[in-house]
Amino acid sequence: MTISEETRDLWKKVKDNSSVLKSCAVHNFGRVEIKSILVDPKLKCTLCGGEMRVMVISHYVDGYRAAGGKIKDIIDSPFFGEDR
Ligand SMILES: [Zn+2]
Repeated sequence: MTISEETRDLWKKVKDNSSVLKSCAVHNFGRVEIKSILVDPKLKCTLCGGEMRVMVISHYVDGYRAAGGKIKDIIDSPFFGEDR
């Protein structure tokens, strides 16, 4: 089986994005208006430039909050709820 150049390019983008995301201490996606999660849009971190899908960010926010962090440190959007 051979891998197409398109697949190889896509895999490189995925790995590059993953490396960028791992280099960032705490992502910040700024003020975001999310109208629907049906399309699960990608958002770009204002600090590292890495991209994450909203549903992945949702899990990231949950983990950050569980560790005592504030949602607003990561994203400013009513979609993710309020800090307690
Ligand atoms: Zn980041």
